[in-house]
Amino acid sequence: MRLKALLDFVILVSTWSKGDGKCRCIYNEPCWPTEQDFASLSSHLSQPLLRPVPPASACYPFHNPSGNCSDVQSHRRDSIWRTDQPGAYENINFESHIFQNGSISACYLNTTFGIPCEKGNVPPVGVDARIVEDVQVAVKFAGQHNLRLVVKNTGHDYLGRSSGRNAFMIWTHHLKNITYTAEFIPEGGSRKDAVPGLTVGAGVQWYEAYTAAAQNNRFVVGGISATGSNGAAGGWIMGGGHSVFSPKFGLGEFSTNALLRCIADWGCAGVDNAVEFTIVKPNGDYAVVNSHHNQDLFWALRGGGPGSWGVLISVTHKTHDLFPLVFSTLNVTFPTPDAATSVVTELVRLSPILSDLGWGGYGLFSNMNLFLGFPSPNASWGDVKSTILPLFDLAMNASHDPDAVATTTPLANPYELLNPSDGTESQDDPEVGGLAELGSRLLSRNAAELRPEETARLLLSFDFVEVHFVTGGAVGRVEPDSVALNPGWRKAVALVRTAGSWEEGTSAKAINRIQQGLAQDVTALDHISPDLATYMNEASLHELDFKKSFFGNHYDKLKAIKRKYDPRSLFIVAEGIASDEWDDALTCPR
Ligand SMILES: Cc1cc2nc3c(=O)[nH]c(=O)nc-3n(C[C@H](O)[C@H](O)[C@H](O)COP(=O)(O)OP(=O)(O)OC[C@H]3O[C@@H](n4cnc5c(N)ncnc54)[C@H](O)[C@@H]3O)c2cc1C
Repeated sequence: MRLKALLDFVILVSTWSKGDGKCRCIYNEPCWPTEQDFASLSSHLSQPLLRPVPPASACYPFHNPSGNCSDVQSHRRDSIWRTDQPGAYENINFESHIFQNGSISACYLNTTFGIPCEKGNVPPVGVDARIVEDVQVAVKFAGQHNLRLVVKNTGHDYLGRSSGRNAFMIWTHHLKNITYTAEFIPEGGSRKDAVPGLTVGAGVQWYEAYTAAAQNNRFVVGGISATGSNGAAGGWIMGGGHSVFSPKFGLGEFSTNALLRCIADWGCAGVDNAVEFTIVKPNGDYAVVNSHHNQDLFWALRGGGPGSWGVLISVTHKTHDLFPLVFSTLNVTFPTPDAATSVVTELVRLSPILSDLGWGGYGLFSNMNLFLGFPSPNASWGDVKSTILPLFDLAMNASHDPDAVATTTPLANPYELLNPSDGTESQDDPEVGGLAELGSRLLSRNAAELRPEETARLLLSFDFVEVHFVTGGAVGRVEPDSVALNPGWRKAVALVRTAGSWEEGTSAKAINRIQQGLAQDVTALDHISPDLATYMNEASLHELDFKKSFFGNHYDKLKAIKRKYDPRSLFIVAEGIASDEWDDALTCPR
């Protein structure tokens, strides 16, 4: 009897705590809105409600598939197709959910496992936002019903922050407005603040933004992927947003005029590539955010992390004149680890020099091979000859590989490289459609300048490592406190990434071992990073101290701003501001 009374009490308390405004309300709980509530919501929206499903659900039940399974399987690595599906994510592990007891809720593309399809982390209900009012209605609905809320744009997130088990989703993919304004004056500003601005809606993807900028003979600093499918006005910008052109023009947040020091406490007009945002705040109000309005939020949105501040509606990026460049590539194999060490040591030593010239690039290497791609804006042949070519000569001589290739190609403008398109060309992206997590650290200028060989040996101790030369140069010359971004970026010359991947059907235990391996990689990389800092959008979900690694000493100020705009923490994401106050599922306060 006593046991039954105790159980009744536990059930009573758990039901009570789910509905009392403390824990978030999630799908299948008694507090979840009724179909009548959803019908009422729907009557205020421009589109029917979404019922997102994992793409592979078309393959189930496996004896009698409900949809075109081979079509879904053929689009596995089709980046743009995936972004068009409300229930699809670029890394498909974020469509599934791992429970604490090790069981996995998933909908595998591989039907031969014979495991029934489950929704995993794909939110069961969502709003297909096409106008600002859709977002406002959805945010208010989520607030009124105390729902676990998820904002999804392209689904590129490497930390799964745009998916959420049993959550209510706002999908921004169709907020596609793009406007170029030759003299964009931020609201509240004057003619002296005018910049050539490209205003992109929250759902615009980089291939679309590049196309619009190119049509106006302008350049916009943005993300790069095989198809340009990542978002131009979502997680990229709020997380920091890097580009191979950042050493020349700064990050998503920063301007060409990088020497200008900003001393304003809450952001600074004149130093930003992002000159204005519009947003639906957590209370459902629409707001303009710039250096004249909501200045504290303006500071926070530039590097204070995605998914924590409301729903972005648009971003206006400052654009730049087009420029010629030299694109250099190197593809070699190494006969011995010593050969790899000598070449990578030289690459590391050179990286601050290249970034100071405003040149960025990508490097992928191991003890066995090296691939480099370096676009160098406004490069003079003299500079290329004294920097990149000696490195390439060293690598070619060390390689003894008859198939080794080194090229330097002059290009008239960056769009010969970025290739703006209508998204109808090959859409397969090798980075997409897998099951993967990342580990990363920024590489400090100090380590590159003072300890190049030690740094090279550390990088080569991994099976395989990616180095993105996307910082230094202009990024390092900006006042660290002028925007929310982790100040560690200012002391860095590159981002180092390691990755762990697995196949569908892998057990939770094996996945956990991979995650632990990534955590060990990160600990090893701490030795070459500035203040353990990294790029929060390309980082581990299992950081020991995400506040320090993602936000540095800006965390407390960001938290104060969050308290002001989102006192109920409606917008909470993994390893985001105030997320440490919530349990791992982000549904109940700790
Ligand atoms: C193939 C690939 C290539 C990449 N290339 C680059 C690169 O070149 N440079 C770079 O810096 N990064 C790059 N990234 C990382 C990328 O910037 C991040 O994954 C980023 O979070 C993606 O943002 P998204 O809005 O497109 O994706 P989503 O997964 O939809 O969203 C990511 C996060 O942003 C939030 N969010 C999205 N839209 C909004 C909105 N309107 N309002 C509020 N919150 C929102 C979501 O809630 C989530 O927390 C790449 C990633 C991939 C997979």
